[in-house]
Amino acid sequence: MSRFWSPFVKQLVPYVPGEQPKVENLIKLNTNENPYGPSPKVVQAIQAELNDSLRLYPAPNADALKAEIARYYGVSTTQVFVGNGSDEVLAHIFHGLFQHGQAVLYPDITYSFYPVYCGLYGIEAAPQPLNDDFRLSLADYLQPNGGIIFPNPNAPTGVGMSLQDVEAIVQGSPDSVVVVDEAYVDFGGETAIALVDRYPNLLVTQTLSKSRSLAGLRVGFAVGHADLIEALERIKNSFNSYPLDRLAIVGAVAAFQDQAWFERTRTAVIDSREQLSAALIELGFEVLPSQANFVFARHTQRDAAELAQGLREQKVIVRHFKLPRIDQFLRITIGTEVQNQALISALKTLL
Ligand SMILES: *Cc1c(COP(=O)(O)O)cnc(C)c1O
Repeated sequence: MSRFWSPFVKQLVPYVPGEQPKVENLIKLNTNENPYGPSPKVVQAIQAELNDSLRLYPAPNADALKAEIARYYGVSTTQVFVGNGSDEVLAHIFHGLFQHGQAVLYPDITYSFYPVYCGLYGIEAAPQPLNDDFRLSLADYLQPNGGIIFPNPNAPTGVGMSLQDVEAIVQGSPDSVVVVDEAYVDFGGETAIALVDRYPNLLVTQTLSKSRSLAGLRVGFAVGHADLIEALERIKNSFNSYPLDRLAIVGAVAAFQDQAWFERTRTAVIDSREQLSAALIELGFEVLPSQANFVFARHTQRDAAELAQGLREQKVIVRHFKLPRIDQFLRITIGTEVQNQALISALKTLL
């Protein structure tokens, strides 16, 4: 803290990202990155862009990428917004579509950036408790609100929601924007993009960080009614005209064009998840049903913080949240077969 800080900055509570350790040889299962690399075509496209053109600004509206996403999902380019990671897209959503003087609803156990954005933009939040199965109670989302947001599948639980339930929430609040954060949808969920033409209050966000192995490139997007997209464009053009650089634009386009790589890697993650879940259950864990690239598991006998520490001593890092209701869970990112095996061996030593 310093006397130069504004009162606003003094009261901010920033997001704390998962650790990116500097030491080598750690098995890193703590931040839901993809264990496989991006498509080689993405790397080629970025390398081909490494030339004199870097002296020029990128296309301010990343038109090539918007066109590619529109083609991929069968929507119009006016229904697509792109940003520097979906975190930035979410920030503009909170700023531009959630400030209506009424509380925004989201689950009590969810992505911890939502309360941070509420703090940043002065938005009141009303977290709604997940039920004992860690599912959303639909009735909670029928109360008056200034907006609704939830991930599907949810994080950090991995639990998914049917499209029918998503639609019920969207229908229940026709006068506010409902945002479905689909960061993990490609690992077994159902996308709500299919519904955007029918609901002008529905906005779906996705990221290339997880299922397309591009967390380091920072590309995310939103799909929804053109009027919602226009609000996001107004915010973006009042903040940073060029959120996506030249490398990000060509890399992201190439990622959508290599469907075979996408299918192969996401199927490998899904298969490994099922194997890892079974192995964890055998070791005495209770594992929530996951549709994501991670599992959320608690041991029936052993303390989660101690297990996380014991794993770290064996060079395996997983995520533990010291939060009410979930402090006995570990969130474990699905790794390669070899990494998952190392995790299981380390757990066997501890148990
Ligand atoms: C990872 C994640 C994001 C952010 O993704 P980026 O595109 O890397 O900013 C958004 N929402 C949820 C639920 C996530 O887990």
